[in-house]
Amino acid sequence: MSRATCATIHLGALRDNLRRSRELAGTARIMAVVKADGYGHGLERVARALHEADAFGVACIADGQRLRAAGIRQRIVVLSGIDEPADIAEMHRLELESAIHHQTQIDWLASDRDPRPLRVWLKVDSGMHRLGIAPSMVHQAHARLRSLPNVDAEIGLMTHFANSDVFADVQTKAQIECFEQCAGDLPGSVSMSNSAGLLGWPQANRQWVRPGGLLYGISVVEGRTAEQFGLRPAMTLSSKLIAINRVRRGDTIGYAASWTCPEDMDIGVAQIGYGDGYPRSAAAGTPVLVNGRRAPLVGRVSMDLVTIDLRQHGDARIGDPVVLWGKHLPVEEIAAAAGTIGYELTCGMTRRVRFLEDPN
Ligand SMILES: *Cc1c(COP(=O)(O)O)cnc(C)c1O
Repeated sequence: MSRATCATIHLGALRDNLRRSRELAGTARIMAVVKADGYGHGLERVARALHEADAFGVACIADGQRLRAAGIRQRIVVLSGIDEPADIAEMHRLELESAIHHQTQIDWLASDRDPRPLRVWLKVDSGMHRLGIAPSMVHQAHARLRSLPNVDAEIGLMTHFANSDVFADVQTKAQIECFEQCAGDLPGSVSMSNSAGLLGWPQANRQWVRPGGLLYGISVVEGRTAEQFGLRPAMTLSSKLIAINRVRRGDTIGYAASWTCPEDMDIGVAQIGYGDGYPRSAAAGTPVLVNGRRAPLVGRVSMDLVTIDLRQHGDARIGDPVVLWGKHLPVEEIAAAAGTIGYELTCGMTRRVRFLEDPN
């Protein structure tokens, strides 16, 4: 038998979350961000479930290739654009659109002899200081792009928020103002918001929004789960109990003997560990669901197994289901217990995890 560890992807949740995005987006169109294999949910599977999205955002041309091979016909934007001159021909072949975040990319376009117009999005650095053209250079870069015969005349404008998940923070407001000042008078569609922008900064909606995490039912907003925003988790990670052992008061559990039993008790062992992508940093006390009810982890997460305090689960039996995150157990809560964000957890499933699809 194969291992019990499964990631179930709820296709209906993806569709519902897209619908919820539309409510939040108003008239803005939705570029569904599906980078990193659809945040670990499976690129083609996610794109098919989100077939009502207006466009897809990916991190590399290879993802665009996979989407086209799967028959996806929407616009696809490569969020970091061309990485070398040869990418331009590949973008044409696959009908992909390129973010332009650096003068070097404009140089490559200027030297390219392909007469076909490439669709581009000029990326403005409004304050995140990762990718983007500096505000003082935006007009010049835009003018240069417009002068190139192999660049489509409709140039989109894009920027990315550094801190939109903190609704009270002043940086997002400053970034919107910075964008207005350096690019507000340029023609073309504007795209600013990621998921947190869409949830907390409606004034940034403009013509296009770019939600990622929100579509998967994951929140990065401090202290708020996606369910509290009316979203449904799109992944449930589950396994089962493969052992229940009686241990004595004073016995220690697992590697480094880091947890000591305060009384005689039952310890459950579930078939999942960091070799599946469950975070090793999840401390004792991190909740799992045994038969749908919470139980805390004890001891260290191993490569293949975790150990669970079953004192409140006298009815538990070998073979019973264990949920690590998903429905009724927000991935945000597990991420907080492991010192990370939900995105890193869903992106981190390893190849031995079986993926199942749930139409709901
Ligand atoms: C990842 C990404 C997004 C989506 O971010 P979420 O927080 O997942 O909504 C949007 N735009 C760009 C440029 C990105 O890299």
